[in-house]
Amino acid sequence: MANEIQKVAIIGSGCAGLTAALYAARAQLAPTVLTGAMPGGLLTTTSIVENYPGFPEGVDGTDLMISMQQQAERFGAVVKFGSTVENVDLSVRPFKLTVDGSEMLTQTLIIASGAGHRHLGLDSEKILDKKGVTYCATCDGALPMFRDQPLVVVGGGDSACEEATFLTRFASRVYLVHRRDELRASKIMAERALSNEKIEPVWDSEVSEILGAGQEKVSGVRLNNNKTGEEQTINCAGVFIAIGHVPNTQIFKDQLEMDDAGYIIRTEGAQTNVSGVFVAGDCSDKVYRQAVTAAGMGCAAAIEAERLLASENQ
Ligand SMILES: Cc1cc2nc3c(=O)[nH]c(=O)nc-3n(C[C@H](O)[C@H](O)[C@H](O)COP(=O)(O)OP(=O)(O)OC[C@H]3O[C@@H](n4cnc5c(N)ncnc54)[C@H](O)[C@@H]3O)c2cc1C
Repeated sequence: MANEIQKVAIIGSGCAGLTAALYAARAQLAPTVLTGAMPGGLLTTTSIVENYPGFPEGVDGTDLMISMQQQAERFGAVVKFGSTVENVDLSVRPFKLTVDGSEMLTQTLIIASGAGHRHLGLDSEKILDKKGVTYCATCDGALPMFRDQPLVVVGGGDSACEEATFLTRFASRVYLVHRRDELRASKIMAERALSNEKIEPVWDSEVSEILGAGQEKVSGVRLNNNKTGEEQTINCAGVFIAIGHVPNTQIFKDQLEMDDAGYIIRTEGAQTNVSGVFVAGDCSDKVYRQAVTAAGMGCAAAIEAERLLASENQ
């Protein structure tokens, strides 16, 4: 890997990275995909994906990602499993990546390193993950287990308000649990949520336990009022945790422009402030965070990388 200069290196193998790989491979750029610790990305952590176009019956998340990988490989993408980028030097082209201790040089770089969810940090949250605990209303809200059931949304920002409002389509009631006595969401989002008669805010409250571990299915939450110290229990079938995301962008700090939360800023299309470095998917998207939008951004990043290389006769 040391001396060969890649035309396109892709950090990440989720929907964004593998779609970028497909497009770059079909442009005969033989991209190298560095999968990181989670080959296939976040979608491999879910079972059925019902909103990825082309699968009327839904598709298993891991199966979808294996298909994307095979499709990219068919056209010449090289997928390096488990390879993690530890460091980057984007000050000069070719860019220098440190991958598992070795150096890799690349003319263009597509960053598709995704974002993780912020967790409450409770044992019961871990135990009941995907058994009623979820981090994405758009992904899971319509599941039969949540239909006509009381649900809890944890958080007080725009995402929490949006998720709570969205869930009123399915739920019998939505409790919006927030640790403060007012929402920190934008005025319009907060007003929309609070004026919805199906949404009941629960102020000054923190989740101390998610109930149902014994039955392997969420049955409620135990809340602690941080002003009065009082405890209360709310029965519910699902807990939607919307307390923020953490983009996997630490290694690019001080080299690429990011917003305060660490999302890489796209200057135009999929471009970053460094010519030759492109970005796609959840590491630069705090709005949609969907498989199909990540894939679309991966496509855009690869097309732009290809155009840059072509303009340089590479
Ligand atoms: C439980 C769950 C269910 C979901 N369900 C749906 C759904 O039904 N429909 C939908 O549209 N969306 C769903 N989503 C959201 C969807 O998974 C994401 O929007 C999508 O995966 C984002 O793709 P991405 O390529 O940007 O990032 P990710 O899928 O997060 O992939 C990031 C990749 O970057 C790699 N990486 C990170 N750091 C490094 C590094 N330093 N070096 C090398 N590689 C690195 C990781 O290993 C990984 O391969 C769900 C998410 C979760 C968690």
